[in-house]
Amino acid sequence: MNVNKLSERLQAVASHIGNDAVLADIGSDHAYLPAHLAIRGRIRRGIAGEVAKGPYESAEATIQEAGLQGKVEARLADGLEAIRKEDGVDTVSIAGMGGPLIASILENGKNQLKGVSRLVLQPNIHAGAIRSWAVANGWRLIEEDILEEDGKIYEVLVLERGEAVYNDSQIRFGPFLSERQPPAFRKKWEREAASLQKILNRMKEASPSAERDAKEAEMKRSLDQILEVLANGEENDRQ
Ligand code: SAM
Repeated sequence: MNVNKLSERLQAVASHIGNDAVLADIGSDHAYLPAHLAIRGRIRRGIAGEVAKGPYESAEATIQEAGLQGKVEARLADGLEAIRKEDGVDTVSIAGMGGPLIASILENGKNQLKGVSRLVLQPNIHAGAIRSWAVANGWRLIEEDILEEDGKIYEVLVLERGEAVYNDSQIRFGPFLSERQPPAFRKKWEREAASLQKILNRMKEASPSAERDAKEAEMKRSLDQILEVLANGEENDRQ
């Protein structure tokens, strides 16, 4: 991956950034996403926020090498502290981290989100943490994507302001993804089901205890929920 050739994962994130956006990419590492979009004239301005010095310096280097000074700025900051009021940021992207970490960055930096109208988030795991945060904080999903790259499956969540109510299953699987069930979605959850089934089979051999029984019941519930969603998808395909 480089500034001219994004990974498919980051291309999917890029595709949801509106034309002419003022973008803050938080946890930007090499700043490939904002730099790529700026080179193509897709964003008005970009901020590459990084909490760690090494990645921040990589972001600086990308910006210098691409001659994007004045268009993209790297900032060493924790989470949304990279955003200043005068920036006029309208879009925030956070990619390549776990869902709970992304949700905590959003929660800790709520004040910096005042002028922001769109969030494009790409959790590597536990996307449900972001959907729960969204519901509790006046954001709603307007689109969801899922893709496979190098054997890993990634979700992309696009949020705008608004109220939404999602049930447990929609929080876990995604309201759009569980409805459409593209191949990467089915693969992700079939994998997850197989892994839960394997653990459950092994648990049967362990000596019984209240703790084991509770864990087993919880895993069984989790597995049943996956199987139900996948069965609904097959049912929809038949209709
Ligand atoms: N966004 C890039 C991507 O998707 O390819 C880089 C992902 S990299 C795995 C995660 C980056 O987030 C790291 O460079 C890390 O330093 C940064 N990061 C983690 N927590 C952060 C925080 N609270 N604020 C800013 N950056 C953070």
